[in-house]
Amino acid sequence: MNSDKLSARLEMVAKYVPKGASVADIGSDHAYLPCFLVKNFGIPFAVAGEVAEGPFQSAVRNVNAQGLSDVISVRTGDGLDVVGPDEVECITIAGMGGTLIASILEKGKDKLGSVKRLILQPNIHALSIRKWFLENNWELKAEEILEEDGKIYEILIGEKGDAKKPYGNNMDAGLLFGPYLSKSRSEAFFKKWSAEKKNWERIYTQLVHASETEEASVKKQELLMKIRLAEGVLVNEES
Ligand code: SAM
Repeated sequence: MNSDKLSARLEMVAKYVPKGASVADIGSDHAYLPCFLVKNFGIPFAVAGEVAEGPFQSAVRNVNAQGLSDVISVRTGDGLDVVGPDEVECITIAGMGGTLIASILEKGKDKLGSVKRLILQPNIHALSIRKWFLENNWELKAEEILEEDGKIYEILIGEKGDAKKPYGNNMDAGLLFGPYLSKSRSEAFFKKWSAEKKNWERIYTQLVHASETEEASVKKQELLMKIRLAEGVLVNEES
């Protein structure tokens, strides 16, 4: 891959970066996204952060090879430790689990003062990010869902604001499925949640036949609640 051609997933992330904003891409791996943003989107300055040595070295090599080392600073460190308190206006974190992304934001809260937009692409558990937004007064402004190479990805865009606003009186379903995604009802959305619902039903049936422990009973209640919520959002597709 080079910096002129990105995956559809990362291109969708790039689409939400505000024009002219300075950006930190955390967990940047080869730094494909910052290179693309600087070369094609007129982004003036970016930080590429990496915690692991191999990906950090790949990012350094790629940035140097493209002659971008004066505008992309490749840094090694955990999460938001690599950025200064008022250094960037936009943060992207892509290709990790939602729980890890939420923990990176939680640990790096003091770095978010100057940040106007968060663009987050969890591979799983987007729910953890929506909950973190809610608890930290970040308003979910938009969501995307797309399928690429047989995998379905969600992208969440947040800005400081009224964290409860997107959910109205449908908080449980909104947190799980996404308040915008459940309204947009795209093909990828139906595919993802129909498969998840089938999986929950399969586990539920196994638990019904298992011995009745306190733990199994709690798990069954949780599954049943998620299955009912999924029935609500998938209703038109399944009928
Ligand atoms: N962001 C790229 C993308 O979406 O294609 C790379 C995703 S790759 C699967 C995840 C990267 O995040 C890995 O290179 C990993 O080393 C890095 N990573 C994981 N935890 C991190 C942390 N706490 N801080 C910085 N980087 C981290």
